[in-house]
Amino acid sequence: MPYKDSEPIFTCKKCGDCCKGYGGTFLTQNDIEAISRYLNIDTETFITNYCVMSGSRYLIAQGKDGYCIFWNGLCSIHPVKPRMCRAWPYIESVLVDVRNWEIMASMCPGMRTDVPPETIREIVKRHLENEKPDSPAATPARQSQKGKSLT
Ligand code: SF4
Ligand code: SF4
Repeated sequence: MPYKDSEPIFTCKKCGDCCKGYGGTFLTQNDIEAISRYLNIDTETFITNYCVMSGSRYLIAQGKDGYCIFWNGLCSIHPVKPRMCRAWPYIESVLVDVRNWEIMASMCPGMRTDVPPETIREIVKRHLENEKPDSPAATPARQSQKGKSLT
């Protein structure tokens, strides 16, 4: 059926495809603190047990099956899942080039591909405007958190 205005352009099918492989899930400092609190552990323990480094930034580790370590049929940290997971698919690169939506949709069955590009741009822009800024966590943040319990 052709796209009608007011229909959602994205509905997550909970397939988990984006939780597997896929270049990794970067964590912001807020993500690290929120997930640690949710797991009832301090941030240092969270980083040691659940994260890997990519350059100077933290990624969530993957299990042997290639899935995010928090994937368990569904996201086991859903209420505090990282900004990157919450934001998908309303991300900056779609505004940079709206054709990225199509590329992303080839990996995500929840994204509609029959939506006019201008509508996609408008909706993504609106989502981004409503989002609070949150910068990625880098190595110095880890040092400043050392030994600090947030539980
Ligand atoms: S790939 Fe898309 S539809 Fe599947 S879980 Fe991820 S966001 Fe949802
Ligand atoms: S945190 Fe949750 S939503 Fe994000 S990649 Fe891991 S399992 Fe998927």
